[in-house]
Amino acid sequence: TTSAVWSGDEIRSADREYVIHSWSKQSGPNAKLISGAKGSWFWDSEGKRYLDFQSQLVNMNLGHQHPRLVAAIKEQADRLCYVGPGFAESSRAKLAAKLAQITPGDLTMSFFTTGGAAGNENAVRLARHVTGRQKIVARYRSYHGATAGAMSLTGDPRRWAAEPAVPGVVRMFDPYTYRCPAGHPDPCPVCTGGPHLEEILQYENPYEVAAVILEPVTGTNGLIYPGEGYLQSIRDVCDKYGILLIFDEVMAGFGRTGELFACDHWGVVPDILVTAKGLNSGYVPLGAVTVSASISDWLRNNKFWGGLTYAGHPLACASGLASLEIMEDEGVVANARLQGERLDAGLRRLEQTHSSIGEIRGRGLFYGLELVVDRRSRRPLTPFNAVGDAALPMSRLVKAAMERGLFLSANNSIVRLTPPLVITADEIDHALGILDDVLTIADSYYEG
Ligand code: PLP
Repeated sequence: TTSAVWSGDEIRSADREYVIHSWSKQSGPNAKLISGAKGSWFWDSEGKRYLDFQSQLVNMNLGHQHPRLVAAIKEQADRLCYVGPGFAESSRAKLAAKLAQITPGDLTMSFFTTGGAAGNENAVRLARHVTGRQKIVARYRSYHGATAGAMSLTGDPRRWAAEPAVPGVVRMFDPYTYRCPAGHPDPCPVCTGGPHLEEILQYENPYEVAAVILEPVTGTNGLIYPGEGYLQSIRDVCDKYGILLIFDEVMAGFGRTGELFACDHWGVVPDILVTAKGLNSGYVPLGAVTVSASISDWLRNNKFWGGLTYAGHPLACASGLASLEIMEDEGVVANARLQGERLDAGLRRLEQTHSSIGEIRGRGLFYGLELVVDRRSRRPLTPFNAVGDAALPMSRLVKAAMERGLFLSANNSIVRLTPPLVITADEIDHALGILDDVLTIADSYYEG
């Protein structure tokens, strides 16, 4: 029965037979059986401990099993597990009010979803309704979620499997100045930002474009931080044509970059902000679409054409509210900044001895190491979207880290360093020690 205690072998066997795992062939190696977690660590059924330098899917900003967060969920469960989205409910109302208070600018009303993809779906549909236009501009180096619409917005090659995509998405380049799409020197003066968007709009008809959607700091697709003025230049072009600006801060929001929101670094406010992940550290599925005062006004007189059975789920909202209170009470964003400085300094030291480090990009605890086989040509350690043997240098490094108890993630030639925001100095040093060790694998491919 489901309540019986299963042995590790029984769990692994049922997992293999019956669970479909994301983005993978189901005949791959057995999934590791995880038996517990606390703070920045988790451990497997053999008792081996791992420092979670991914925060699982970059969502566990408060780490694992935060006692106060767990207690808030239990308390809400005792009180009220579920009421339909049409009713007013305490945790839902409080969380929406709190978001209106802490999100930048005049962002006011929130629609709650079950995660990031559903957030982006609703943001885009709302933008289409508000503007009466259809086209959406999105970027190549982006990930917006795995539902049909969100996948169509996504530039990452995972989109290919979902094509033909939902129509109406127009693509622009990214502020990836380390590798300018036209081969210009770094920082590239022309290929990204306002002028680039402006040119695309001339070909597309700016008055047919409902919204531009982007990650203010690109997460999965490369930890790309825009240069000074980039976001403002996009904001200005959007304003010129009455195009709405949607920021997808599903990964970068809630302290990850050392500011509460990534866009706070540059003081640029979107019309629609989509969040999830760090909003409640993912203890219960939750996302939010938070809209400007003028869209809030529009919604007072026009129907919101969207809904989910679990929109504003009380358990999720209670965990969101508790999560935001914990962040304030425990100085979590300040810790992200502090430990981020320590991580940064450590990485700069590693750069002295590891020739494979091409660029270190990051703020707060949202870091990427761009690995290369030649610093001068910047040729990546693994080619874009490499599979099989071509991906080996990167997969060997990640595997070696895991064997040493450091849970890392990587995409293309970029290692992502995104630990929980509650991490300690000792834990940062521990990770740096392992990185120092495993980066020799990348160095062994160096050709420069
Ligand atoms: N947007 C960004 C920037 C993300 O990083 C992700 C997930 O990684 C999503 C959207 C999709 O969120 P979810 O998996 O909760 O649907």
